[in-house]
Amino acid sequence: MTTSATAEKPATAPQAGRQVPFFNYPALFAEHREEYLSTFEDVLQRGAYIMQRDLAEFEEALARYLGVKHAIGVADGTVALKIALTLAGVGPGDEVIVPSHTFIATAAAVHQVGATPVLCDCGPDSMIDVDSARHVLSSRTKAIMPVQLNGRTCDMDKVEAFAAEHGLKIVEDSCQAMGAKYRGRFAGTFGVAGSFSFFPAKTLGCFGDGGGLILEDDALAEQARELRDHGRGKDGKVHRFGINGRLDNIQAAILSVKLKRYDESIDRRRALARIYDARLSTVAELLLPPGPDSDPLRFDIFQNYEIQSERRDALREFLTARGVGTIMQWGGHMIHQFEDLNLKAHAPYAEEMSRRYMMLPLHPMLSDDDAHYVCDQIETFYNG
Ligand SMILES: *Cc1c(COP(=O)(O)O)cnc(C)c1O
Repeated sequence: MTTSATAEKPATAPQAGRQVPFFNYPALFAEHREEYLSTFEDVLQRGAYIMQRDLAEFEEALARYLGVKHAIGVADGTVALKIALTLAGVGPGDEVIVPSHTFIATAAAVHQVGATPVLCDCGPDSMIDVDSARHVLSSRTKAIMPVQLNGRTCDMDKVEAFAAEHGLKIVEDSCQAMGAKYRGRFAGTFGVAGSFSFFPAKTLGCFGDGGGLILEDDALAEQARELRDHGRGKDGKVHRFGINGRLDNIQAAILSVKLKRYDESIDRRRALARIYDARLSTVAELLLPPGPDSDPLRFDIFQNYEIQSERRDALREFLTARGVGTIMQWGGHMIHQFEDLNLKAHAPYAEEMSRRYMMLPLHPMLSDDDAHYVCDQIETFYNG
């Protein structure tokens, strides 16, 4: 019921009436049930489970969609990040700058390749704050991970200038932003390699875990293909130690079906964001994400609609009682707020956000009426 990012379950409404769940998996399946079932049947009848033609076809379709040379299916978004970091040459002794407002997977991937995640703040646009990144630079800093959060891109001019100035590799966490653009360039095409998550609640979600990696360089692409499959190359020999990080064939087949309608689903998300933006921008106490038509530099895909409110907890309770599911990303915690990880950060804005942020329902199965209902409730909360 959540985006992968969040451990928290959306609360269910105690009273009868309209229900606007945060996400709606059954409806998403029902919409194209026959096509999904026939796809499953086709794959199962062929007994084609691992590294079969459906995977190759999906990889080709994804590369075509994003206009990149190589797209590689992997087990999940976190595996994509780990492989991308490895391709960037990140390893033991290195530090990687990560914003604290992100899914734990961003930092975990750094840790798992043997390097140290060093956290910085985000800015009012909820994206990495490059000025804050400047303060955590050290002689060991090897890379920076801009997180293209909520389906929106960071200020990539700033990130690129900063990386160039300090000789850092860029490893994008574009897991939430497949199809988003900055100055006409797709998220995922800025650094060494781009990463995507096909977790069910992501904009391109499969029926389980899945992920993708995109890149241009032929040699690195071959390395990535080997890394995801136990280090095995096309010749069947092992050329390096790899992992079992493959995308299942059956998920790849489903993803090909979904990719055909991907643009439509993004249009739908943007239309819903337009409704929220038009209706809620009159509520002075809310901080909204930039509207879909507000920024000529960016094309946002609205993976999430994250708002901020001083009275966040009361607002969530009010909405819950009226059947509207909301969640707090990352269960309400920035990375450095997970005490057991002992990650320190000077991130005052992220901390403020953790007290104020929440996400409204926004997915392709949400109707215009649902969105208006959500807005009605929010207006009632603020204006009575
Ligand atoms: C979803 C997500 C990932 C990867 O998640 P997986 O569950 O491993 O596919 C990484 N970073 C961010 C910001 C995400 O939202």
